[in-house]
Amino acid sequence: MAAPYEIVEHEYDVLIVGAGGAGLRAALGMASSGLKTACVTKVFPTRSHTVAAQGGMAAALGNMGDGDNWRFHMYDTVKGSDWLGDQDAIEYMCREAISAVVELEHYGVPFSRTQDGKIYQRPFGGQTLEYGKRMAQRTAAAADRTGHAILHTLYQQCLRHDTQFFVEFIALDLLMDDDGACRGMLAWDLADGRLHRFLAHRTVLATGGYGRAYFSCTAAHICTGDGNAMALRAGLPLEDMEFTQFHPTGIYGSGCLITEGARGEGGYLTNATGERFMERYAPTAKDLAGRDVVCRAMTIEINEGRGCGPRKDHILLHLEHLPPELLNQRLPGISETAKIFAGVDVTRQPIPVLPTVHYNMGGVPTNIHGEAVTLRDGNPEAVVPGLMAIGEAACVSVHGANRLGSNSLLDIVVFGRAAAHRAVECVRPGERLAAPPALATEQAIARLDRLRWTKGKRSVGAIRFALQRAMQQYCAVFRDGPLLAKGATELAGVLGSLNGELDLADRSLIFNTDLVEALELDNMMSQGLVSLHSAIGRTESRGAHAREDFPERDDANWLKHTLAWLQPDGSVRLAYRPVHLQPLSNDVASIPPSKRVY
Ligand SMILES: Cc1cc2nc3c(=O)[nH]c(=O)nc-3n(C[C@H](O)[C@H](O)[C@H](O)COP(=O)(O)OP(=O)(O)OC[C@H]3O[C@@H](n4cnc5c(N)ncnc54)[C@H](O)[C@@H]3O)c2cc1C
Repeated sequence: MAAPYEIVEHEYDVLIVGAGGAGLRAALGMASSGLKTACVTKVFPTRSHTVAAQGGMAAALGNMGDGDNWRFHMYDTVKGSDWLGDQDAIEYMCREAISAVVELEHYGVPFSRTQDGKIYQRPFGGQTLEYGKRMAQRTAAAADRTGHAILHTLYQQCLRHDTQFFVEFIALDLLMDDDGACRGMLAWDLADGRLHRFLAHRTVLATGGYGRAYFSCTAAHICTGDGNAMALRAGLPLEDMEFTQFHPTGIYGSGCLITEGARGEGGYLTNATGERFMERYAPTAKDLAGRDVVCRAMTIEINEGRGCGPRKDHILLHLEHLPPELLNQRLPGISETAKIFAGVDVTRQPIPVLPTVHYNMGGVPTNIHGEAVTLRDGNPEAVVPGLMAIGEAACVSVHGANRLGSNSLLDIVVFGRAAAHRAVECVRPGERLAAPPALATEQAIARLDRLRWTKGKRSVGAIRFALQRAMQQYCAVFRDGPLLAKGATELAGVLGSLNGELDLADRSLIFNTDLVEALELDNMMSQGLVSLHSAIGRTESRGAHAREDFPERDDANWLKHTLAWLQPDGSVRLAYRPVHLQPLSNDVASIPPSKRVY
């Protein structure tokens, strides 16, 4: 019973989907260079998940007098990625980091300060000096509310430069033409129920991660990877989707994040016997080893019966030995979070914590200019005309198999800016736009209608719960062939239920949150499928992907990126592309793969 929809038409030079740090940085660069820029977002810009980032943003400023250098940062990032990161992209990011932070400061980000007035920097996991010899103080922070400070500043700058915002608009689908070029996007305005067709020379996906595909995660409820799913429906692949980062310190029960900055400021973990067990797993970096390393160590401690509490099912994070003034000044936000979500006074008691899904290394494959790429005519890096992707939605790839803490705020700002540079180079303001074929809009509406009018016996919440439980159970910190196979069967069942049994309580178009959640569930479903099948495909252990049946890293066969396509029948097709082992310039040598010890 498809109803006719009123469609409002828009024409822009560039269109950005998402108003987190990545989207806003790109919007700012494009709008301030004279491109007519639209930014569409499902929540008010400053409610994007970037606002929740606590610990900070890495850059080798060397403000703490430790003799930091972007080459050390690059080495740490390549090693952190377990050599799956592309070294050209990593060089670019680490070099640009320094000017990116200074630029943010000039835009007005209120960074914390050292005694002599420089930007304060704290230690973070895996960030070291002299190629792993000592811990660096590299993470520029605004107390433990760095993302909040960055997001608000960027939003204000965007307003200053006439970015046009479309707030509480739900992006539905990309509008692709017959040659595989992206011509724009169709969106639904929650406030009045109309559809909006945006045409643009460049459409930039900046829609963030899909942490909510899991049961326990630190990400906001809006992190459902809508842009990634739009790319899949447009017939494009997603890259390295098997790599899901767990953060060591989600609060036991709620999953709320306690920043790695807590360990950066001197916090440490203990097991049931009170032992600082990280000393056994990572003798040098200890509690500040890579996140995947710490999560595996915690999981092993719990699995071997050394978990804390009556159920022996968590680990304790200690901050109570730190001076109250330091907690107050450097970690005020997490002190509050621990009080509310764990009932703990951090000046007196440890916080119960558990590894929790935190970040998605995979996403839309792009080059270092933020242009989306795909496999075409044997070229695995053919640019998709008209489409770009940045931030957590993208896979450049600078994080490879495991992202280092404080490298994501960096990634979103650096590649948001790079995408703006590219668009400004390529797009002439006001140039005539090509319209997509009518079929593109019809297909997007058909999907909307399918979910809007679906009749069955299960609610969105029930099916979402089934998806989240399956991902948490079968595709978590440790994986294993039989378990993954069981997960695939389970997910196929959830998909069947989504396609055959879903029922909505509300069929209207105005602020229909039930329909929004159904669209998001459909998006998460597709990412759950490609993640799990990418994990089945990779028969080695690397970074966040730890296979119990293939415990070693296998560079001979697996030093390559996964590309995954979702077929209309729900099956997943896999292909692979080489890792870029060569850096961008001659200023630094390629970092050859070696064993990753901290
Ligand atoms: C609790 C927490 C703490 C973190 N702390 C740190 C840290 O200290 N340092 C660090 O480097 N990284 C940190 N990270 C990671 C980092 O914050 C994120 O990876 C990064 O902020 C993502 O930014 P983004 O711009 O890509 O996406 P987001 O900030 O997630 O923004 C996504 C945007 O897309 C829009 N959107 C999505 N779907 C649609 C749709 N269908 N239609 C319209 N709009 C849509 C949303 O409205 C939103 O504006 C943290 C993450 C979490 C969850």
